[in-house]
Amino acid sequence: MVCLACILTGGLASVSAATQPNIVLVAVESLRADHVGCYGYRRATSPAMDALAAEGVRFDQAISAASWTTPAVMSMFTSLPPSLHQTVSSSTMLPEGLTTLATELKNGGYQTAAIIVNPCASSKYGFNRGFDVFDDSSIQLAAGLGDLDLNNNSVSDMVTQYAVKWLKSCRRPSLPFFLYVFYFDPHYDYMPPSPYDGMFTDPDYYGDQDGSKIVRLAGKPLAKADKEQIIGLYDGEIRFTDDQIKVLIDTLRDMNLLTDTLLVITGDHGEEFWDHDRMMHAHTLYDELLRVPLIIHWPKEIKPKQVVAEQVSLVDLMPTLLDMAGLPIPGQCRGQSLVSLFMSSSRRTFTERPVFAETESRTALKCIRTSSQILIEHVKDKTFEAYDLENDPFERDDLALMPQYTEFQPLLTAYEDWKKQNAEFNATNRPAQTIKIDPQLMKQLKSLGYAH
Ligand SMILES: [Zn+2]
Repeated sequence: MVCLACILTGGLASVSAATQPNIVLVAVESLRADHVGCYGYRRATSPAMDALAAEGVRFDQAISAASWTTPAVMSMFTSLPPSLHQTVSSSTMLPEGLTTLATELKNGGYQTAAIIVNPCASSKYGFNRGFDVFDDSSIQLAAGLGDLDLNNNSVSDMVTQYAVKWLKSCRRPSLPFFLYVFYFDPHYDYMPPSPYDGMFTDPDYYGDQDGSKIVRLAGKPLAKADKEQIIGLYDGEIRFTDDQIKVLIDTLRDMNLLTDTLLVITGDHGEEFWDHDRMMHAHTLYDELLRVPLIIHWPKEIKPKQVVAEQVSLVDLMPTLLDMAGLPIPGQCRGQSLVSLFMSSSRRTFTERPVFAETESRTALKCIRTSSQILIEHVKDKTFEAYDLENDPFERDDLALMPQYTEFQPLLTAYEDWKKQNAEFNATNRPAQTIKIDPQLMKQLKSLGYAH
């Protein structure tokens, strides 16, 4: 049952139980913002996403809270940094007592469903909390994929098929729905189906890189043409997925749902292509991994062609969606509603503030970032990297040992305060649950490079 008192506490004056929008959250694996057309990319990787951005709002600086899947997605769903939701490894699960976006929407009257193909975002880690339907196995089973096959198979078309199937068989049309769809394919290996494999690659390339066995290439020297081939194949994976997102959008339109559906497109984190001499993700906290697309489309309520320049975090997504659904924002949330940045009817205000990101893959790193500066701590060594993002947007010149480092003192103070607040939060909340990984999941994680 929908609690009317709760609904009236939302930030949008116009939302009532009868007008709660359907919500479709589309997350795309390993999607760096600067490979998306509406973020300035030179290739036509994303016509569907670009069209949504033109009809809605695009966030120019959306920062993920982590540089690999499990902690990044859990931060989206809990509005907490990884240090607080503690789902930071392949053997940790969301602690009891923390709420999620899906739980809040379900308690607020939504029917909730998820279509996932990603072993790092599965129910084993608690991602299924709050979902009536959390399908993280059908696609893999239907595609006949074994333990090691996710790397080199394309499944974005199946993700769309299962999402459409759920939409068409929705048993309770009287209730608003929250559908979460997670596309996997831009994750390495980069082996898009034809014609996407030749869409952005050089037809005269005669090297031996076909986008496979990417994990084995880490640290090995590659010729420029090999690198270009690999990047072209990654771009093909994005376009393949974008075309499947278009099928999902067209279905919503055909069902007369698109105008009144709050549609969100984002990525869980980016991908490295030798920006800092590395490939893949999880190992650093530079912008190629932290900056992701964030597009919100709701023609009934949002004016088109809006671009938000302010820096925001994906921990802001949960409070934003709850706000737009007219539901209260739990005290747990470390993010803030972004609604006032693109809807004049909002009763809240947005304050631009530093955002944070973390990774604990091999090397533990934490960072604090503003639009103009970033400080990255190497936790074990207690050393920092410092970059002036205004003058050095590609983070080439580390200022930590330079005289300019004094300009980072206010950021360092804010970072130390954040760590203190985190310690206080964790002192009063339950620790992460450790889970046992079954042999099949361990094989998958190893093949994807997440376990050793
Ligand atoms: Zn990921």
